Amino acid sequence: MSKKETYNHIENNSDFKGLKVNSGIPQPESVNHESVKRFLNKSRILLPVNDYVNGILNGDITLLSKAVTLVESANAKHQQLAQDIITQCLPYSGKSIRVGITGVPGVGKSTFIEALGIYITKQGGKLAVLAIDPSSERTKGSILGDKTRMEELSGDRNAYIRPSPSAGSLGGVARKTRETIILCEAAGFNHIFIETVGVGQSETAVHSMTDFFLLLMLAGAGDELQGIKRGIMEMADLIAINKADGNNIEKAQMAKVQYNNAIHLFPKKDSEWDPKVLTSSASLKTGISEIWDQIENYKELTKQNGYFAAKRNQQATYWMHETIQEQLRRDFYDDPVIKAKIKELEKQIREDKLSSFMAAGQLLQLHSKQK
Ligand code: GDP
Repeated sequence: MSKKETYNHIENNSDFKGLKVNSGIPQPESVNHESVKRFLNKSRILLPVNDYVNGILNGDITLLSKAVTLVESANAKHQQLAQDIITQCLPYSGKSIRVGITGVPGVGKSTFIEALGIYITKQGGKLAVLAIDPSSERTKGSILGDKTRMEELSGDRNAYIRPSPSAGSLGGVARKTRETIILCEAAGFNHIFIETVGVGQSETAVHSMTDFFLLLMLAGAGDELQGIKRGIMEMADLIAINKADGNNIEKAQMAKVQYNNAIHLFPKKDSEWDPKVLTSSASLKTGISEIWDQIENYKELTKQNGYFAAKRNQQATYWMHETIQEQLRRDFYDDPVIKAKIKELEKQIREDKLSSFMAAGQLLQLHSKQK
């Protein structure tokens, strides 16, 4: 077709006065070539457990990524393989500092993580950045998974960035992130950042899998304590007032004093750590090393007083219960007998023919009979 010729598409009809629709670009032969198809299929072939485990222990990022993909998969075969890999990696995990980083969208989380991340890798550290993104549940697209974020860190050989797993309940997403932490640690990443958007429940999930909780905030005019729920502030081990640069420096200093007063009204922490408030400019990379120093101080204090290990133990038992609940729920709702019956009972509840408790009882009994 010549360039001038109009493509015969319904919207090129005179009834439609919008954009002109052009014909699509033909697919190059090579994309559909048998060898490419064979290659694509081959890359989906599952490897033996030991191949993944050895690869991960040797710091092979490609195999680490493949194992994380298995962790995130809903396929039962993939899940079984993932569990076997995790079990074998578990003895090599744990040797890291896990930092949760939260703050409302736009506060500068990615810019901050990039600045702090580069500071860490320059000192010889290895950093994995993972995310828990509640929005991905709704939109099926992760805002924390945007590829254009953290460009410099993405190119750093000592950094591994993995966007939030995008399917399932918050509990499911959190479990996958927790399992990914284990794999990353086994691959030699001794710094783990878990990023989340500071607007919902996911902070509690992040708090339950990290050692240190960092909250990024902005200096506002008079409404410094707005926007972030009190409970999230109470969890913070450090609040960084970001964007402390240009005209904002003075306001950031004022906010620092106010937050400092506010957080000292909270009950003392079990960790014996006195939470800190600092200012930073993620863009100018100022205040970054001071924040890292505080994280190091926290680590030293809590390793000495035993809190670090105690918290990790407590988290491990918490995650055992979470995993059981998640597994039971999945088992139940995936049961074909339940799937067939549940709609009918839902209808009966809506029509007031059956109470919710009776329906739940019937379904649970039906499910246990399958076992
Ligand atoms: P996120 O949504 O929390 O991940 O925030 P981003 O890191 O994407 O940053 C949001 C916007 O704020 C971007 O335009 C950044 O360039 C800008 N930004 C981030 N940190 C700073 C900072 O320290 N100072 C200033 N002036 N701008 C910043």
